[in-house]
Amino acid sequence: MKYLLIYAHPNPKSFNHALKETIVARIRATGQQVTVRDLYALQFNPVLSGNDFVSFSAGKVPADIATEQAFVKEADVMVVVHPIWWFGMPAILKGYIDRVFSYGFAYEVTDKGVRGLLSDKKVMVFNTTGGPQETYKQYGFTASVENIFNAGIYGFSGMQVINHTFFYGVPTVTQKEREDMLASLTKVEF
Ligand code: FAD
Repeated sequence: MKYLLIYAHPNPKSFNHALKETIVARIRATGQQVTVRDLYALQFNPVLSGNDFVSFSAGKVPADIATEQAFVKEADVMVVVHPIWWFGMPAILKGYIDRVFSYGFAYEVTDKGVRGLLSDKKVMVFNTTGGPQETYKQYGFTASVENIFNAGIYGFSGMQVINHTFFYGVPTVTQKEREDMLASLTKVEF
């Protein structure tokens, strides 16, 4: 399997960074390939601009988008690692989706309705939260985030979500609990 890991966190000392490194090590240990696209390190431009629309309507894909689409095309499994910010994804990742998951690449409209075009791909999502699991349960936040990401974005694009893991309350749990969270990745099948 060819994995493409999309990573969105600006801090190299963050827990998300440790999560990303652990997942990369796990995939490589199985002898499989993983390509990492670290959106902050790449200084990925997340703003879908007027010029992008002009290019798309002329049948041209802007170069930075074409680069990312080539990585997506090559992958069998996309792994997405990021914190939950304002009950969504960091803006840089939202902008990656806005620009890279474009019409004609990720989806199209046919006589029969919208059709996802990435149906040969699977997705695994790993999120950290500030809020505790009880709050997520009480307010239905987990289900909301799952619906938006898994049905609204990845599923809409035809992708099959095979894993969505939440690591809750990461800044406030104990160091041991965070270490256990990283250790739990050994149970995830890559
Ligand atoms: P960090 O803060 O980087 O790290 C947490 C702790 O883990 C630190 O003590 C760090 O030293 C430690 N750590 C680092 N590496 C390791 C390691 N290898 N092993 C063990 N410990 C380690 N939360 C919500 O629930 N809902 C929201 O809507 C929401 N909105 C937010 C919006 C913004 C703009 C921001 C900045 C935060 C928001 N949060 C929200 C909180 C956010 O989700 C959490 O702060 C984040 O998920 C924690 O992950 P992190 O990687 O940033 O952790």
